[in-house]
Amino acid sequence: MKDCIFCKIVAGDLPSTKLYEDDMVLAFMDIAPINPGHVLVIPKEHHTGSSTIPEEVAGRMFHVGARLGVALKRALDVGGFNLHLADGKCAGQVVMHAHLHVIPRDIEDGFHWNWRQQQYESDEARDDIASKIIEKLKF
Ligand code: AMP
Ligand code: ZN
Repeated sequence: MKDCIFCKIVAGDLPSTKLYEDDMVLAFMDIAPINPGHVLVIPKEHHTGSSTIPEEVAGRMFHVGARLGVALKRALDVGGFNLHLADGKCAGQVVMHAHLHVIPRDIEDGFHWNWRQQQYESDEARDDIASKIIEKLKF
């Protein structure tokens, strides 16, 4: 897609440090890492969000992300990794070509997700939301 920086990386029109490539996905180093070794895995075909990525390609993205996570644990001697995908601007997506972050993590690496844990007003309120989601779930 014209004007998409990740499509330009796939086409070789913008530079990147590539780690892995096959017919479906490309993995390269993030230029502004949360931690050193932060990698992005993208579908080669342009998809803005995750929901239009064909199942086979999405599966490959996750598989490659997990294999890269193991590789960076061994290479960088860190304890774990996060797989993260922001879908939509309000979810924190900045580059509008879907991408899976693979982020090396270690105890006291100084990064926190700022995760919060709210409570439902009642079990019924939780179940009502679950029903609404199930109603809209389409494959
Ligand atoms: P997100 O906020 O999930 O859209 O993440 C976009 C990511 O792309 C950020 O972590 C950026 O550092 C990264 N990024 C942006 N431009 C480039 C580029 N040219 N090469 C590598 N990573 C990039
Ligand atoms: Zn693109």
